[in-house]
Amino acid sequence: MMDSALVRKMQKAKQYAAEKDDRVRFIRFEAEVKGNHDVHFVRYEAGQWLCDCAFFQQRGRCSHTMALEYILEGML
Ligand SMILES: [Zn+2]
Repeated sequence: MMDSALVRKMQKAKQYAAEKDDRVRFIRFEAEVKGNHDVHFVRYEAGQWLCDCAFFQQRGRCSHTMALEYILEGML
């Protein structure tokens, strides 16, 4: 049985989540992105992307980092 204070916190959390673009900004994280051939390891820190794929090493941007940019649009 949940107490009313926790229920209010859950309602507030849902509001924050609905307003995520204004409320949440990612500072750093690590993720695995499953490509068509391999799983790639992506890091984001202080506005900089890193990916272990060959394309990223040449171009500094790749489908894996861009996929995460789409997912996190407005929160980076
Ligand atoms: Zn990549």
